[in-house]
Amino acid sequence: MQILIVEDERLIAQTIADLLETQGDQATLALDGPSGLQAGLENRWDAIILDVMLPGMDGFQILRTLRARGIITPVLMLTARTQVEDRVEGLDSGADYYLTKPFSGQELLACLRAITRRPGPVRENVLSFGDLRLELSSCLLTCGGKSVRLSRKEFEILGMLLSQPDRVVSKEDILRRAWGPGSEADGGSVEVYISFLRKKLQHLGSRCVIRTLRTLGYRLEWGAEP
Ligand code: CA
Repeated sequence: MQILIVEDERLIAQTIADLLETQGDQATLALDGPSGLQAGLENRWDAIILDVMLPGMDGFQILRTLRARGIITPVLMLTARTQVEDRVEGLDSGADYYLTKPFSGQELLACLRAITRRPGPVRENVLSFGDLRLELSSCLLTCGGKSVRLSRKEFEILGMLLSQPDRVVSKEDILRRAWGPGSEADGGSVEVYISFLRKKLQHLGSRCVIRTLRTLGYRLEWGAEP
């Protein structure tokens, strides 16, 4: 598994990384809040181990931001503080588990195993980002209380954008995926479907927008004014 460790105490971070590597996992370290958030937003981790007290931005704030951006990676929070309120705040911000320092290596591994094998209908059947949820079985796109059904091509295209938010998806990739290899469709067809999707996002009142990046492709971004 690819695991992100956000922890400013270098010794603890390195000890955890070494422990994970003996298990065959790959660990990446972030040693302060802002770099932890940035790494977390890459959305390519199987789990994130997140300290609470961090320079620059605390773990609760990082976690709330990740969840608000649609990132559902399992998160194990670490803290030296033992107050019940912290624990509650951690779980309220979207943590999957909470471990109080000092903890044993075995305890940490057991927690990680527990959160990464969670049965995950959310992880498997729904793609979400920002205020959008796309149900994979029904092609239903939901935002707040409203929903619309997507056509097959709209579904393929939005699925690509939702599964890698904040990254650019090229027109060529969209053509290959939604129309299949050898199709005679061209970039103009992609533009037409992108405009259909934009109308649907508008209709839903979503704050996600599909941004066009000239010559590069499209990117789904969160936080536009409704
Ligand atoms: Ca700390």
